[in-house]
Amino acid sequence: MSLNSLLETAKVVSLPLRQKFRGVTHREMVLFEGNNGFAEWSPFLEYEAEDAAVWLSAAIEWANGKLPNIQREYVEVNATLPAVAPQNVATSLAPYGAFETVKIKVAEPGQDLNDDLQRIWQVRRLHPKAKIRLDANGGWSVAEAVALAGAMVENGVPIEYLEQPCASIGELAELRVIFKRNGFQIKVAADESVRKVDDPQAVVLAGAADVLVLKAAPLGGVNRALHIAAESGLACAVSSALESSVGLAMGLHLAASLPDFGLAAGLGTAALLAADLTEEPLLPVNGELVVRRVNPSPRLLAEHAASPERRDWWLDRLAAAHALF
Ligand SMILES: [Mg+2]
Repeated sequence: MSLNSLLETAKVVSLPLRQKFRGVTHREMVLFEGNNGFAEWSPFLEYEAEDAAVWLSAAIEWANGKLPNIQREYVEVNATLPAVAPQNVATSLAPYGAFETVKIKVAEPGQDLNDDLQRIWQVRRLHPKAKIRLDANGGWSVAEAVALAGAMVENGVPIEYLEQPCASIGELAELRVIFKRNGFQIKVAADESVRKVDDPQAVVLAGAADVLVLKAAPLGGVNRALHIAAESGLACAVSSALESSVGLAMGLHLAASLPDFGLAAGLGTAALLAADLTEEPLLPVNGELVVRRVNPSPRLLAEHAASPERRDWWLDRLAAAHALF
C-alpha cells in the first residue's frame, strides 16, 4: 500500500488502560483500511523506525494481503496478570472470567522475588487449578530464575513455562541445562529472544527454548510468524502486544492457523483496556475467543481520537516507517 492510500483512511486513537502497563496509561495506535478491512498499527512508543516498519508490514498484510486458512474457529486464551500487589490480583483477573491458564508478570523493576512469590501465592489461593506461566521479560539472572523455579517445584505449582526468564539466549540455554540437572520439569519459552533479534531461529539452534512465543505484529505478520513456527519445529504460543480488538484479531488469525500445541494464546488482553474500538470487543467467554475479524466503530474511533499533536506525531512516524519499505 502506498503512503497516500494509508493516509486516506488513517485514524489515530488513544485508548485508556485499566492500569499502567509497560509504563503507559494510554495505548496509542493508527487504524487504516484495506481491501480485507481495517488493520491496527501500534508499535510501542520507544521503538525505532526499523521495528515500526516491521509492524507496518504486518498491518498492511492484515489490511490487504493474502492470509492463510484457519484450522479452527475457537482459540483458547489465557488470563494475563500485571505485576500487581496481592490484594489487587482478584480485581485484575476479574475481566477474564473463567480461564484454565494464567500468565503472571514477574521480575518487575523495583520489585523483588518476594513480591513475585506473594503474587503467585495469591493466584494459587484464588485459582488453585489454573496452569501458571511466569513472564519475566528477561528480568531475572540465571540464579534468580533457578531460585524461583525451585520454589515452584517445592510447592508443587503447575508451571506451564517460564517466559523469557533471562535476557540472553546464552542464559536461557544455561537455565535449561540446570533445570534438567536439578530434575525440574519446567519449560522455558522465548519471547524477546524471538522478536527482538535479527534471526528468530538463533534461540532454537542454541537449544535455549522449549516453546516460542509468537506475536504477529512484531514478527512482520501472520504469514511470517507461521513460517518461523514451522522452521523452529517447536511448540508455539501466540500472544499480543496490548492491541485493541482490531489488532488482536490478527493474532487470533495466527493462533487459529497454527497446529494445535495445547497452549492457550495470550490474546485476551482486551481485558487490560478501559475502552476499545468496537462494541463487541474480543473478550474471552469461558476461556475462549471466537476467531473473527474486527473492524472499528466510527463512533468509537471519533470518541477516542488522539490529540492533534499526537496525531501529527503518529502520522510522521507512519511516513518514516513506510519510507523504509
Ligand atoms: Mg513476554
